[in-house]
Amino acid sequence: MSEHKDFLRTIVEKDLESGKYKEIVTRFPPEPNGFPHIGHAKSIAINFGIARDYDGHCNLRMDDTNPTKEDTKYVEALKDAVEWLGFEWKGDVRYTSDYFDKIYEYAIQLIKMGKAYVDSLPEDEIREYRGTVTEVGKRSKYADRSVEENLDLFERMKKGEFKDGEHILRAKIDMSAANMKLRDPLLYRIRHVQHFRAGNEWAVYPMYDFAHCLSDYIEGVSHSICTLEFENNRDIYNWVLDTLSLKPPRPYQHEFARLGINYTVMSKRKLLELVEAKVVSGWDDPRLPTIAGYKRRGYTPESILNFCDSVGIAKANSMVDVAQLEFCIRDDLNTKVPRVLCVLDPLKVSITNYEGSEEFDAPYYPHDVPKEGSRKIPFSSEIYIERGDFMENPPKGYFRLTPAQSVRLRHAYIITCKEVIKDASGRLVEIKAEYSAASKVGDEDKSGIKVKSAIQWVSAAEAKSVEVRVYDRLFKEEAPEGIEDVNADSLQIIKNALIEPSVIVDKPDERFQFERQGYFYADPIDYSDDKPVFNKIVGLKDSWAKKEKAPTPKVQTKKVQVDGEVVAMSEAEQMLFDKYTKELGLNSEVANTLARDKQLSAFYEEALVALNSPVSLSNMVTNEVARELKDKRVEELKFNALQIAELVSIVDDGTISNKIAKQVFEEMCKSGANPKQIVKDKGLVQISDPAVIAPIIDDVIAKNPDNVAKFKAGNTKLLGFFVGQVLKATGGKGNPKVVNELVMQKLQ
Ligand code: ATP
Ligand code: MG
Repeated sequence: MSEHKDFLRTIVEKDLESGKYKEIVTRFPPEPNGFPHIGHAKSIAINFGIARDYDGHCNLRMDDTNPTKEDTKYVEALKDAVEWLGFEWKGDVRYTSDYFDKIYEYAIQLIKMGKAYVDSLPEDEIREYRGTVTEVGKRSKYADRSVEENLDLFERMKKGEFKDGEHILRAKIDMSAANMKLRDPLLYRIRHVQHFRAGNEWAVYPMYDFAHCLSDYIEGVSHSICTLEFENNRDIYNWVLDTLSLKPPRPYQHEFARLGINYTVMSKRKLLELVEAKVVSGWDDPRLPTIAGYKRRGYTPESILNFCDSVGIAKANSMVDVAQLEFCIRDDLNTKVPRVLCVLDPLKVSITNYEGSEEFDAPYYPHDVPKEGSRKIPFSSEIYIERGDFMENPPKGYFRLTPAQSVRLRHAYIITCKEVIKDASGRLVEIKAEYSAASKVGDEDKSGIKVKSAIQWVSAAEAKSVEVRVYDRLFKEEAPEGIEDVNADSLQIIKNALIEPSVIVDKPDERFQFERQGYFYADPIDYSDDKPVFNKIVGLKDSWAKKEKAPTPKVQTKKVQVDGEVVAMSEAEQMLFDKYTKELGLNSEVANTLARDKQLSAFYEEALVALNSPVSLSNMVTNEVARELKDKRVEELKFNALQIAELVSIVDDGTISNKIAKQVFEEMCKSGANPKQIVKDKGLVQISDPAVIAPIIDDVIAKNPDNVAKFKAGNTKLLGFFVGQVLKATGGKGNPKVVNELVMQKLQ
C-alpha cells in the first residue's frame, strides 16, 4: 500500500471501522467502446488497489448500455489491460447487460410507486421544459398519466411497438431542483438497434444514471468510485437507491479527479479518430496513450503504476506533465536492464595500427546496480561509431572525437583520428585512426592520452543490422485538440542501425539500454531473428526540456523529479548536465545531482582527470562523497579526489568488490589513509580464486539440503539465496561473479 493515505482510503477505513461494510467491494466499470488509456490505468489502480489493500475484491464490469459503439474487441483490450497491470477481477467479467431484466423490474417498481412516468414530449420540448440554472423547469403534462397507463406504455416500449424517441421513461423527482440533473431525469429510451451481447431482445435501454447505481447494488459494491464529472449525478444515484428502499448495505459514490496529461489526447473518441484516420498504426501504436500502446512501446506495468501513484488521488482536476511519466519509466529501467552498445547512424573507422582481433569482457551493469553479468565484445581494425560523435570543426565544449581530440571507445581503447576521408560530394565516409595499446580498459591507463568522453562503437564484421523505431511525442501542442495538431515527425524508422552481436532476443519482453541513446524494447510483434526490430521506449533524459528552453532562456525546464517543485537549472548547470549525460554517459539522475552542486561537480572533475572512469566515479561521488559533504566543506574532508579515483580504480579492476569499497571508504573518512593501503592492512582483497571459494560453496550446499532439492526441482530463484550465503561466508570479500558461476556449476 502507498505510505500516504489518500482521501478514498480514509473513507474506506472509516467505513470498515464503523462496521458499515464487512467487505470492501469496488468495481472498474468501463464502457467497451475503445481501448483503455492511461486515465483508465489510474482508475484501475485505484479500484483494484483499494480492494487489494483492504482484503476485498474488485469486479470488472463492462458498462454496455450504449449498444451502437460497443464491441468485443474492446472487451478483450480492457481485460488485457487489467491483467497486464497485475490485477485480478473477481469471478467472471460482468456486464451491465446481464442485469437488464433486473433493472427493468426496478423501473416497473418505480412506476408502481408513482415515482416514474412515460413522457411523450418531443426531444426539444423536453429540453425547453427543463429550465435553466436560474429558471425552474416545468413538468410535462404526461407526468399525470395513471400507473396503469404508464405500465402499459412501458411494456409496449420494451416490445418495440414505438419508434426511437417517441416515448421515454423518466423519474418523477423535482422540476425545480437546484441540481438540474434531478429535474425528472431520463431512465429509459427506445433504441431499435442490435446489442453486441443481448442481440435484438430489447428495444429499450437503461440510461447510465439508472443502470449504474443498480448494477453496483446488484453486485454488492460498497464504494462506487468515479471521476469528478459525475459529481452532480450523485444525487440521482442516491435517489434511485433510497426511493427503491434497497436494503443496506448499499453502495455510495465517491469522486476523484480525472487524470489529464499534456501533449496528448485522452478521450476514446479522439483516439478512435486517430486510429480510423490511420494517423497511427492501430490502437496499440506506441505513440498512443493507450495501455496497449505503452505495452508495445516497452513501458513496464510497474512504471505505469508508479506514475499513477506519484500523481496521487486528488479532488481537483489538473494537468500532469508527460515528463513525469517518462521519468517513471526511466527510473524503473535504470537498474533493471542490461546496457549494450548500438550505433544508430554508423560512420566507419579503420584503425590502421591494429592487427588481428580480440574480445573485451564488458559488464552489463554499472557498479551501483545490484545486478551482475557481462558479455564479450569483439574488437577489430574496422569498427563503426556514431556519426554525431565525430566533428571536424567542433565548437567549444565538444568532448568527443575530433582531429585534435582523442576519445575512448567504451569498454576498449582510446583512439586518435589521423585522417578524414570524404566522397565526391564532400560527405564524410570514413575515418582512419590509431589506437593506443596502453589504454586498454581494465589495465592501468599508461597511454598518457587525455580524453573527455567514452563513446559507443561496434566491430564491423560482427555487428548485426537492426531496425530501430524512434518515437517522439504524437502532438507538438501542449494541449492538443486532436488530429489537426499531430506532430508530423513523431516516428523515425532507422533501417540499418548496428548492434553488438551479444544482443539476442530469445524470450519475450526484452529491454535494453543502448548506452548514451536511451531504453529500447524488442518489438513484441515485428521482431524476428531475420529482422530484429527495436522500439525506443524513452531517452536517457528529457529531451523536450531543452528544446523548449532554447527560444526563451527564462522558461522553466521540465521537471526531472517526481516529488515537489524542481527549480530550473541555470545555463551553466544545464551545460554541465548535457555534458555528463551526452559525453560521459551518466544517467540523468546522477548528472542532475552533479550539475546542480558546484562543490560536488568540481570534486568529480578533479577525480576524472586522474581516472578515466566517468560512470563509476560519478556513482562514488554522488553517493559516498555527497553524503560526507552534506555537513562538511571540502576542506574538512580527510580524503581528496585523487584518493577517490584510486578507490574507484581498484573496484574497476576487480581488486575489491563494490561492497568492500564502502567499507574502505568509511575508513578513508576516519583516517584519511590511501585506499590501497587500507585494503592491504585489513586483508580486504576480493577473493576470486575458485580454489578458495569452492570449499565454502560445498559447505553452504551441505547445510541446505532442502533448498538444494528445491533448486534441482526447478526453483531457480534460489540461486540468489545460495550466492548470498556464500558471499556472507566470505565476509563480503567473495567476487560475486565468480561465486555466481561456481554456484551454478555445483548445483547442476
Ligand atoms: P473517455 O472519455 O476517455 O472515453 P470515459 O470516462 O468515457 O473515458 P469509461 O469507459 O466510461 O471512460 O471509464 C471507465 C472508468 O475509468 C470510469 O470510472 C472513469 O471515471 C474512469 N476514467 C476514464 N478516464 C479517466 C481519466 N482520464 N482519469 C481517471 N479515470 C478515468
Ligand atoms: Mg464515456
